[in-house]
Amino acid sequence: MSVAICVLGPTGRMGQQVLAVAAEQPDVRVGSAADRPGSDAVGAEVAPGVVATADLSAALAAAEVYVDFTTPEGTAAAARAAAEHGTAAVVGTTGLDAAAEDALVALAERAPVLVAPNFSPGVNLMLALSETAARALGPGFDLEVAEIHHRHKRDAPSGTALAVGEALARGRGVDFSKARVSSRDGDVGARTGDEIGVLALRGGGVVGEHTAYFFGAGERIEITHRAESRAIFARGAVRAASWLAGKAPGRYHMRDVLGL
Ligand code: NAD
Repeated sequence: MSVAICVLGPTGRMGQQVLAVAAEQPDVRVGSAADRPGSDAVGAEVAPGVVATADLSAALAAAEVYVDFTTPEGTAAAARAAAEHGTAAVVGTTGLDAAAEDALVALAERAPVLVAPNFSPGVNLMLALSETAARALGPGFDLEVAEIHHRHKRDAPSGTALAVGEALARGRGVDFSKARVSSRDGDVGARTGDEIGVLALRGGGVVGEHTAYFFGAGERIEITHRAESRAIFARGAVRAASWLAGKAPGRYHMRDVLGL
């Protein structure tokens, strides 16, 4: 039996990709779609026989798993509505605020929840490699992260850059919230050994590029991932939705889906 998914923001950049991937995958089918009231998507047929609705609750009730690439407000609203129905959540929205995080924590008591700042298998491997490299190289190496995204991206640094920073911090054995230095400007002084710098560039149509830097005395290692198509995120999200259906309530990660 295929898993019925609800696609939020079906006419968004990612929503369209999710619909395209779902149409090709035999293990999932689009059961419903929802967008915010007033969106042009509402009333449109976004998949064969599926008309997007502004009634979030009804759309979530019609699916086992919903796939959310929207906005932090959209994520909070969907998680609250999903808790009424026990609908499983695959969330790719980035820049989540406390309200969205709290709603997802509450939903995870009722349903399986998987939040990933990046659904690409390559990036998830990069996270594992970055942690291993930071641990292996030790404190003699300075750790930095840089990311580049298209001009429309709203949040900065990207959720993935922060995830790379977290991975580096885990490998180094430091607290990322204390080690993180976002960009640098002015007389900021010499870099300390434990800090992890994070730099964001924006422009053009860049789908997503992330580099973890390991600067040693006399050598430098870089681990770079370049996304060339949004389809990689949609494929990962649809794979996660299929994997998540029927799991016990709680929080899951892409590394669980990929077996990393
Ligand atoms: P977009 O602006 O093209 O699409 C967002 C869609 O969400 C729009 O169609 C909008 O109408 C809809 N929406 C807004 N509020 C809603 C609500 N309350 N309910 C339902 N739908 C609602 O944006 P995008 O480029 O598709 O990106 C969306 C999010 O996904 C961003 O946060 C982006 O950073 C993130 N993203 C994550 C990954 C990943 O792998 N995790 C990959 C790409 C993008």
